Amino acid sequence: MFPPRCPVCGELKIPWESSTCPECAGKLRLITGPVCMHCGRELSDDRKEFCGRCETRPMAFERNFAVWQYEKWMKKSIADFKYNGRKENASFYIPHMAHTYGKQLLRYGVTALVPVPISAKRRRFRGYNQAELLAEGLADALGIVSLRLLKRIKNTLPQSGLTPEERKRNLTDSFAWDNNLAGKLAELPKTVALVDDIFTTGSTMDACAKVLLEYGIHTVYGMCICIGNE
Ligand SMILES: [Zn+2]
Ligand SMILES: [Zn+2]
Repeated sequence: MFPPRCPVCGELKIPWESSTCPECAGKLRLITGPVCMHCGRELSDDRKEFCGRCETRPMAFERNFAVWQYEKWMKKSIADFKYNGRKENASFYIPHMAHTYGKQLLRYGVTALVPVPISAKRRRFRGYNQAELLAEGLADALGIVSLRLLKRIKNTLPQSGLTPEERKRNLTDSFAWDNNLAGKLAELPKTVALVDDIFTTGSTMDACAKVLLEYGIHTVYGMCICIGNE
């Protein structure tokens, strides 16, 4: 077995019974609110209900939740999780997601989590889909199921570094209903939550939610580890 590494800095100095090393305990910034009622981002103007982005742009999902701000240390943690094989970081994120928003998701009637898919090629290369690890762990914690209802159908360019307009184009038609599993289900869940690592512009979640709604899911929420500032 691997000795536990700190899920934030990646060092091997994490004491037993603690989820991070002592230096990292205060490095991550939790989203404390008030938050945008749509994307879950911390609001810069707390008299408002929606952030500047959501005010002008309707999206197909109902409401997204995120636990941490996407800042320096969270960026490192997530990069390790996605690109450096640090799968075990999931066991740091999941209890926080469950603790902070689990009850709320259940109250909203969410009975299944749907991981945002990555391409088959990327999945082979990486060996796992980070969103699936999160969705499966969180579903276990909440006593619901994780269902792979979507697939990525074209190898899109990485979203980082593109303008919002380019991102949108890049994502068009890149998600599709995956009938492999869906075709075997006796009944589709009515209310689901998409699960992803980072919420940036919301284009990914919007594109995924559109496909789910098109195929008969009634309501789609979102659950991410972290989200950027307004
Ligand atoms: Zn650390
Ligand atoms: Zn918003």
